[in-house]
Amino acid sequence: MEFKQGEELIVVHFGELWLKGGNRNYYIRLLEQNIKEQLAGARFDLQRNFDRLILRPGKGSSFESISHRLGKVFGISVFELSIVAKPELKSIVSTAKRMLSAKPRPKSIRINSHRSYKQLPFTSIDVVDKLKNTAEGLGIEPKVKDYERELSISVTRDAAFLTLKREKGAGGLPVGSSGKAVVLLSGGIDSPVAAWYAMKRGLVPIYLHVHAFRENAEAERGKVSKIMGTLSGFHRGSKAYFIPSYVFQANSTRFGKYELVLLKAFMLRLAEKVARKEGAQLIVTGESLGQVASQTSSNLAAEQQGVTAPILRPLIGLDKEEIIAIAKRIGTYEDSIKPYKDVCSINARNPKTATEPDEMKRLLKKIGIAKVVSKSLSMSSVAG
Ligand code: ATP
Ligand code: MG
Repeated sequence: MEFKQGEELIVVHFGELWLKGGNRNYYIRLLEQNIKEQLAGARFDLQRNFDRLILRPGKGSSFESISHRLGKVFGISVFELSIVAKPELKSIVSTAKRMLSAKPRPKSIRINSHRSYKQLPFTSIDVVDKLKNTAEGLGIEPKVKDYERELSISVTRDAAFLTLKREKGAGGLPVGSSGKAVVLLSGGIDSPVAAWYAMKRGLVPIYLHVHAFRENAEAERGKVSKIMGTLSGFHRGSKAYFIPSYVFQANSTRFGKYELVLLKAFMLRLAEKVARKEGAQLIVTGESLGQVASQTSSNLAAEQQGVTAPILRPLIGLDKEEIIAIAKRIGTYEDSIKPYKDVCSINARNPKTATEPDEMKRLLKKIGIAKVVSKSLSMSSVAG
C-alpha cells in the first residue's frame, strides 16, 4: 500500500478480532462493510493494511466529523488520527517535530514506539531516544507518568504512523459476525441496553415489541420506534415486529397473579416463531435477576418452558444503576423514561414470585397458547 509523507489519515485497530484465527478475514471484511454503512454519506476511502484498516477522509470529511459515528462501530478497539512519515529515523523526527511544534504546545509528553517490521536498521528504543531529544529541544519534557499528551509511533514496512489523537472504539465484534437474534424490546430502560449488548457481541437484532394498542400503527408512532432509531446508530436496517397483545389479554385476564409470567411466556413463544422465520438462533431479553418480582429464578424458569431457542439475558448480573449508566451513555435513557402505555403495567400489580412448572403448563394449555401465538403473529406488522 502506498503512503504519502505528511498525509493525515485514520488508522483503525480491531483488537479482539485477532483472536479469531482462520476466520479473521471474514471478520475484517464484515467490519469494513459495517464501517462503510456507518459512514454512508461521508466521503472516504477504506483499505486494509495488514493488522489495521486505513481510512482516508475525503472532501468534507475529517477525523472530527466522523469520529462520533466511527466510535459506534463494534469490532473497533481504537482509532487514531495519524500523520504519515517514511519508515526512516530522519523522516520520523522531522514529522514529530512539526507535530509537536503546533500550538497549543504541551508541557510534557510520553513517547511510545512500536515496530511491526523488524528488518529496519533501527529499533523502537532508537526512535524514542531521538524523539525525546526532539521534544526537549522544543521545551517539552518527556515523561512516563503524569504527562499531558502522548505521541505514539508505529513503524511498518511501508510507513511510520505518528499519532497524537486517539479514540477508544466500541470494542466487541462486528455486528453480523454472530448471526441474528430476536430481541424482545419493551419501551423500558433495560431491553435497549440488552439490544446494545447483543450487537456488541456481533448479533444483528430483530426487534419484537408487544404493544397494548388496537392498531400496530399507533405503536409504531410511539417511543419504541424512537428507541429503535437510537439503537440503529450502532447498526442500521434492523427489522422490527410490532404485535398487539389483545388476543393474549382476552384469553388470560382470569389468571390474575400469574398473568405477568404468562405474558412473558407468550412473548418468548412469539420470539421463537419469529426467530425461526428470520433465521435467528437466539432470543435476547432485558431481564436481570431479582430486579422485580417477576424476575425470580423460578419465574425465569417457568416462562421459558417449552421454548427451545436459547434465551440470552445479557443484563442478568447488572444492578439497575449500572444499566441506567449504560442507557444514558448509548442514548436510549431519555426515551425509555417517557410515559408509555406498557403491556406489562396493565397486568397484575402483585405478580406471583414463585411459579410451579406444572402449574405453568396447565395455565398455558388453558389459554390455548399455541393458537394465541399464531393468531397474534398473524396480526403483526414488520417495519424496517
Ligand atoms: P425493560 O426495562 O426492558 O422494560 P423491565 O425491568 O420492565 O424491563 P419486565 O417488564 O419484567 O422488566 O420485562 C423484562 C423483559 O421482557 C424486557 O427487558 C424485555 O426484553 C421483555 N419485554 C417486556 N415487555 C415487553 C414488550 N412489551 N414487548 C417486548 N418485550 C418485552
Ligand atoms: Mg418494562
